[in-house]
Amino acid sequence: MNKHSALLLNAVSKTYGQVKALKKVNINIEKTEFVALLGQNGAGKTTLFQLLTGLFNSDEGEIRVCGNDIRCKPIPALSSIGVVFQQATLDLDLTVYGNLKFHCLLHGLSRKEAEIRIDDELARFGLQDLKDKIVRNLSGGNRRKVELIRALLHRPKVLLMDEATVGLDPESRHSLVEHVRSLCRERNMAVLWSTHIVEEVQSADRVIVLHKGQILAESTPKQLVEESSEPAFTLADAFLQLISHNKNTGVVYE
Ligand code: ATP
Repeated sequence: MNKHSALLLNAVSKTYGQVKALKKVNINIEKTEFVALLGQNGAGKTTLFQLLTGLFNSDEGEIRVCGNDIRCKPIPALSSIGVVFQQATLDLDLTVYGNLKFHCLLHGLSRKEAEIRIDDELARFGLQDLKDKIVRNLSGGNRRKVELIRALLHRPKVLLMDEATVGLDPESRHSLVEHVRSLCRERNMAVLWSTHIVEEVQSADRVIVLHKGQILAESTPKQLVEESSEPAFTLADAFLQLISHNKNTGVVYE
């Protein structure tokens, strides 16, 4: 294993009944990389995140977070991860502070340390005024920001964003991508950003194209366009070409 690896997946597979949702997936993300996982509905993105967050075990293969095997050393592995899920998971009836404090206490921070970190993160996002607001009364964009803040409070080395822009308008989506992009640089944090929206991956260091459980390509956004088998003018063209050339790949019914 590369000593700079923040996240390593080695031949990871997951099957639901007869559906092979992930088939021998290999991914290696370095400590400061922003990697986009691009795939259509059903590609296997959420399944991959469920394995990375310890919700399910893979059927085969190895997952390491900062060198720690997720099965043998789940505590150091999982505590190195921050995650924003596709579905909102804030308690709508608690205040922003209440939600954030709960997360800090779960991660073993003292009340004093929790308060310092929460105030600090809210200030960085310019959201100090929301501290005592009930989450139910926030806009969708601000709820997502609060979820991102929550994911950062325990200072993870790897940030997982699972289709985190769902429900946001284009401007809020763009601003969330840019914000996470800059956090990645500032905090030397690895980011895995999953999406089916091509515009969101333009500024990634690397794009991994996942289709029906298999990786079809892995390259910089520029190279994906340049290396497509037919002329492609945009990343969206290159992505659609890859998908259409691999219609028969993937989910296998045995
Ligand atoms: P989306 O963008 O629609 O959320 P995705 O890329 O996250 O899609 P997954 O949700 O991981 O894809 O699904 C991958 C495949 O596994 C699909 O064929 C899906 O129908 C199947 N699948 C996912 N979860 C289950 C489950 N609990 N039981 C059976 N099949 C499942």
